[in-house]
Amino acid sequence: MTKFLKKGYLKIKCKECHKQHSFESRDLIFDKKGTKHICEGDFFCDCDTKIKYEIVINETETGELGNVTYECKNGDIYDVFKISTL
Ligand SMILES: [Zn+2]
Repeated sequence: MTKFLKKGYLKIKCKECHKQHSFESRDLIFDKKGTKHICEGDFFCDCDTKIKYEIVINETETGELGNVTYECKNGDIYDVFKISTL
C-alpha cells in the first residue's frame, strides 16, 4: 500500500465541555514508519483543555490496508473518516 484515500471527517468531542471538533481527513498528515502510517496531533478546546489524538493505519506485509487504531486523550473520537486503498 503506497497510497490510500481518506474521505470524511475525524470528529472529537471534548471530555470536559463536550464541544465537538471536526477535522477534514485530507488535512491530517500521516508519517510513514515502516508498515505504520501515524498521524499525531493536539489542539486546545475553547475550555482550555488540551486534546491529543493519534491515529495509526497499519499496512500488512503484502501492502494491503490493515487495522486502524484511534487514540484520544481528554476527548472522545465519535466519528471517523473512511480509508481505502487506491
Ligand atoms: Zn472543551
